[in-house]
Amino acid sequence: MPTVSEIMDTMDYGPSVEDSSAVRDWLKQHERFGHFIDGSFTPAGRGFVTSDPATGETLAQISQGTAEDVAAAVKAARKAQPKWAKLTGYERASYLYAIARVIQKRERFLSVLESLDNGKPIRESRDADIPLVVRHFYHHAGWAELMADEFPDHSAIGVAGQIVPWNFPLLMLAWKIAPAIAAGNTVVLKPAEYTPLTALAFAEICQEVGLPRGVVNIVTGDGETGAALVEADVDKIAFTGSTEVGRAIRAATAGTGKRLTLELGGKSPFIVMEDADLDAAVEGVVDSIWFNQGQVCCAGSRILVAEAVAERFETLLTRRMETLRMGPPLDKSTDVGAIVHPVQKDRIVTLCKQAVAAGADLVGGAPGEACYVAPGYLREVSPANPAWSEEIFGPIATLTTFRTADEAISLANNTRYGLAAQIFSESATVATDLAAQVKSGVVWINGANMFDAAAPFGGMRESGFGREGGRVGMLDYLSGPKPDSVKEKAPKTPKAMTDGAASGKGIDRTEKLYIGGAQKRPDGGASYRAASGDLVPLGNRKDIRNAVEAAKKASKWAAMGGHGRAQVMYFIAENLSLRRDELGAKHGKEAVDAAIRRLFHYAAWADKFDGMNVQTKPGYLVNVIPQPFGIMGVICPNDAPLLSLVSLVAPAIAMGNTVVAVPAQDDPVAAFDIAQVFDTSDLPGGVVNIISGPKDDLAAVLAAHDDVAALWYCGAKGAEAVEKASTGNLKPVWSFENLDWTKQSAHGQRFLDHAVQWKTVWLPYGALPAGTGSVAY
Ligand code: NAD
Ligand code: MN
Repeated sequence: MPTVSEIMDTMDYGPSVEDSSAVRDWLKQHERFGHFIDGSFTPAGRGFVTSDPATGETLAQISQGTAEDVAAAVKAARKAQPKWAKLTGYERASYLYAIARVIQKRERFLSVLESLDNGKPIRESRDADIPLVVRHFYHHAGWAELMADEFPDHSAIGVAGQIVPWNFPLLMLAWKIAPAIAAGNTVVLKPAEYTPLTALAFAEICQEVGLPRGVVNIVTGDGETGAALVEADVDKIAFTGSTEVGRAIRAATAGTGKRLTLELGGKSPFIVMEDADLDAAVEGVVDSIWFNQGQVCCAGSRILVAEAVAERFETLLTRRMETLRMGPPLDKSTDVGAIVHPVQKDRIVTLCKQAVAAGADLVGGAPGEACYVAPGYLREVSPANPAWSEEIFGPIATLTTFRTADEAISLANNTRYGLAAQIFSESATVATDLAAQVKSGVVWINGANMFDAAAPFGGMRESGFGREGGRVGMLDYLSGPKPDSVKEKAPKTPKAMTDGAASGKGIDRTEKLYIGGAQKRPDGGASYRAASGDLVPLGNRKDIRNAVEAAKKASKWAAMGGHGRAQVMYFIAENLSLRRDELGAKHGKEAVDAAIRRLFHYAAWADKFDGMNVQTKPGYLVNVIPQPFGIMGVICPNDAPLLSLVSLVAPAIAMGNTVVAVPAQDDPVAAFDIAQVFDTSDLPGGVVNIISGPKDDLAAVLAAHDDVAALWYCGAKGAEAVEKASTGNLKPVWSFENLDWTKQSAHGQRFLDHAVQWKTVWLPYGALPAGTGSVAY
């Protein structure tokens, strides 16, 4: 114990360590943990230890879940599900509410347990993680209560398999379990192997509140256990973790019909404009990349700062960095705790070395004892440096300067990822302009890492798909009303014919592909005799590539706004009605009439599929905005050649996407007839492109194309292949069965839901309260 006068000499902070005796008693009582299956704990099996990364001390023995354990848990969840879903919303809500209440009472216990197992400072687990967990269960207790009113005709999906990482162990559990069970699903959750303890404490809370057996099951283990869960008889997989594992899960679930939500990595930009409040921006860095030792998927790990203020910003940044206190996680005055595991520490140190070898300067960032790494940042990181694109997942940012806002945006979007972005500017004009242009699922203006249960969170591009939080997040755990499916006519194998072989008939006007608003001969010059008897162009890989290029050039379509797009779509409908008799004679009057109505229907929606403003905490304006994906691939069924094309293309373009469509393989002529109508209706060239040919071959090319951001596949077969082929850029693939297309309007919203991705934009009103930093807790 130092004397008072010694303290006066050094002015150091004294230790202020949170008491861990209650947690240690609990650990001693258990020592070896089994799984939580069907309401009780199984005997502990063979497994591994989890430890405190700050000291290396072993905390407990954990069982390695086998495929049999997973199967038992899924069986329990399956059995419990119908009864759980049949409870009234109010009844389910009261369980969620009880869980929230008990967690709230145990906040301190859970915070200490989380900090011990993960290494994060108690200040963070106490002030961010656990309060957000509580908020999540309360919020979703509300959704359970309101299910019948707010999601009429929706039902639970069934059993959800959920796999979470180690960076926010209990918070990620809450993000997954709360919406799932609120909606009437039951779950099997696998916590991360480095941090299973709070999930096991949560299992005890489920027992304590008398949650019906089997509603929540927890199986511990490593990636193998996770892989077994992916393979198991579940209806949905929700995963948060690395992009690499996300891809493996996409491939493993392809063609199974399992719903999928992937929340993956990021390399998010942190933009500091010339007019930013630089002190606030520096605090933003503290909250963004030095929060939780930078082990945050949405960390603003690429600092982009305006050249004019870069020097001043860096001075403030390094000064602030030096005041951060690295120390024991349980010390209440620790800012920087331990990295979760030696493996992760090594990864961080190795990546920093590689970055330096590639020409970067590392400021700070020295590795310490045990699992410690000091906060730091890398300067002089060119886009060719691995640190520019690789997720370091530690307290090390990169710092790059820019001159203009355009340059800032092009640097910001120069990444495969699209999880989050932070923008610092005192100008609302500048900040909102950048927020609109940056490609990410979440945007924080003048703040960082703001989370709330009401605000959807999730990524674009290779950061994954699906959202967690709020109304949009609930939809990922529900099935909406589904129209009856109609068996698809199996397409015939098309036989290629060269021009000559087409018996001198030549290729007339209607027998060309439609690319960039013009008729184009197919690349190979080949045609095929469609089952309809018509000679039609045989599109190939190169034609698809050309069509994607044309669709890319038409990106202004999104900028026209809903009203502008509606005008064009009304005009298409009008021109189609002018040709009603002629096209009706060729393709059926009913189909033409239904197509006209379909165009009107989605034109109506174009300016009415609204975003929402959600209530998080007082003082934040949080908007959730539907955004087009960009280029969509649309694979039509082999039926209803005119109507299916219109029915699928219309919702996609109404939302601002551009489309490469593969029409009904056996009868694509109707699609080319519709293309003529597009041409006379002010639809900008390239918004819709039509490539006829062998359905599944062309679908596979679209699935594998990195510039195609989303894919719809309609039909009985082939979903597995396109889902597998789509792992490259992790595009969301929606595969669905063929419908009676005359009835589609009744299900119009379902198509719009799949034509957008949501962007959540946080804008604090005025300045954030002094001293709170920007992490919203
Ligand atoms: P990971 O993706 O390997 O692990 C995340 C979870 O998935 C864990 O529960 C793990 O057991 C499980 N898992 C691993 N392999 C699996 C498989 N084949 N099938 C099913 N489940 C599987 O991530 P990690 O090894 O813990 O960390 C590696 C990197 O991932 C980090 O350095 C970081 O870049 C990234 N990461 C991202 C997040 C995020 O929030 N997006 C979280 C943690 C890690
Ligand atoms: Mn641990």
